[in-house]
Parts: sequence; C-alpha cells; structure tokens
Amino acid sequence: MNPEILTLNRFEQVSLNPEIEIFDFLSAYAPQRINLLNNILNKTGFKGHFDGDLIVDLKMASNAGGYFDMEDTIAINPLILLTGTEEEIAHILIHESHHAGIYPNKNGKKIKIIEEVLTETLTIAMMKQIYGEVGIVSGYQDIVDILSAYVPGLTYLQIYEKISNGDENTLDNMIELIVGKSVLDSKNIIQLQWESIEAILKSQWKKISCMFPRIMNSTFNTNAGLHDESKVSFEEYISNKAQGLQKKIAARFKESQNSHLLQEILSNLNVKNQDLTIDNIIKELYAKGYGYLVNYELKYTLLEIERYIQNKKKLESIHLALNPQIYSN
Ligand SMILES: [Zn+2]
Repeated sequence: MNPEILTLNRFEQVSLNPEIEIFDFLSAYAPQRINLLNNILNKTGFKGHFDGDLIVDLKMASNAGGYFDMEDTIAINPLILLTGTEEEIAHILIHESHHAGIYPNKNGKKIKIIEEVLTETLTIAMMKQIYGEVGIVSGYQDIVDILSAYVPGLTYLQIYEKISNGDENTLDNMIELIVGKSVLDSKNIIQLQWESIEAILKSQWKKISCMFPRIMNSTFNTNAGLHDESKVSFEEYISNKAQGLQKKIAARFKESQNSHLLQEILSNLNVKNQDLTIDNIIKELYAKGYGYLVNYELKYTLLEIERYIQNKKKLESIHLALNPQIYSN
C-alpha cells in the first residue's frame, strides 16, 4: 500500500476530529518540522496577522493544497505539511492568506481576495519576492497566464493596488487594466472612441469572464455558487456597469497621458477655424465617441480644449503675419 494512504488511515484512527490545530498536529506527527513552519510563518508575514484558526484538515482531498473557509479558518493539507518543501507549504499558505485578507494594502486596509486568478497572481508575485521562485504550479496557472499577458511586468504592489478598492470596483479596475491598456496609445487614437473600446471588450469577453467568474457573479447578484462559471453576458455588463469602466478609463487617460492624447484627439476633430469654440468642440467630441471624457473628466477636458483653442489661434496669427496675402482677399 502506498505510504500516503497508510498515513491517512493512521490519522483517521488516531483522531475523531479531522481538524487539528497546525502546531498540535506537528508536535504529534513531525516535531522536527516545527522550525520549518515557524520559518514559513515569519517569512510570509503571517505570524501575528491572522486572528483565525490555522489547522490541518485530515479529510482534505489529496490534490488540494489548502483552503480558506470564507470565515475564520485556513487549512493546510496534512500530507504536504509533512512531506512538502518550505516553498510548497509557503505557496499554499500565502494563497490562502490572500483569500483570508491578512495582507494590508498601502493604506493599511486588509482585503479578502475572492477571485482565484488574482489570488494566485499575487501569490506568485509574493513568492518571487520572498523565495525567488514559486513553490507549486497551481490549477489556476492557465488563467494566471491570461491575466499576465494583459498586465506584463506589474509588481506585487501594483497589482494589489489595482485590486484593493473593494469587490465591485475590482471588476472595473481589472477590466480597465485589460481593455484600457491596449487603447491608451497615441498610435491608436481611433481606439479611444467608446464604440471601439466596447468592441475590444466584446472580443475579449470570453477570457475576461473566465478570469473573473466570482466577481462577475457577485457584482451582478446572480445566485451563483463559488465555483460556478460567470453567468454575466457582455450585454448585461455594458448596460449595467459600463459607466464604471468609462469613469476609470477617463481617469487613467488624465493621469497617465499628460494631455498628449487629448491634444491629438482634438487636432483630429473636424472643427473649422471660424467654429473654434468650446461648445462646438464638445459637441464634436460626443459625436466622435469621446463623450465619456467630457462626462467624467470635465475640468481636465475643458482645460485641454481651451489650451487647444489658444494654440490654434496663436498659430493662426503667426501664419497670418507670415502670409498676409492669403487673408487679404
Ligand atoms: Zn484559492
């Protein structure tokens, strides 16, 4: 018989209660591993930050590493605790700790992260920071790869920052990161029109749904189970939630592009020199699908429009001074 099954049988015989506090368990079965666990708890920032119970669960399926029960208990697989490497155990602990919300963001707020793709992405980033490598390749690696392709090179803190504005905002944050990133590019001005953003979103919807099923379902209040696929259609998202996305894209537009993109959009509008007024330009922005910039970043957009008009007028007077004959007839 394989030794793991033997071990499990032994656990079942010796304990009627399958949930055992983790140090009690190690004291009984592998006291030589207590130091290892202490090292892990220290290095991962776990010690002193978790108020609940850290246990082993003897009933746990052998292919599961651990779980957080959504209340106050983190469980680690007993066989991995007895036979795994420090990195393997740390990886599982960090993953469950992100679900349990023990790590504070930069404002000190502790966030319970429910979505597996985010949990595992953060876990990998933290493992690389602490150990220089990951401990396990989880079953979520395929969705982690999809997300990583959208947000290459983000650090642990940058990802956490994007996630940590609460559940409902998280969805907007992550979708904005995925969709907004590909359109905030001066070579693709046309893609900044809302219709184009929608089209990009639609083409990516399948991947986005498979990455964020829990947030999707919980945001839209459909009675979905924790392990269900997303039950939210693209049309449902656009009619209910697109405003949040528009706001976020408008805000990032303002933050990250330093007015360059908006000046480029303005110079591509069809407003004749004699019609250069703020009202006309705003009308044209709406007509071209850039109305969300006016809706959500009005002050900034107005400022840029004024700047644009002034520059145009300045150019015109220089032009006039250099070429008076053009205007004399
Ligand atoms: Zn998980």
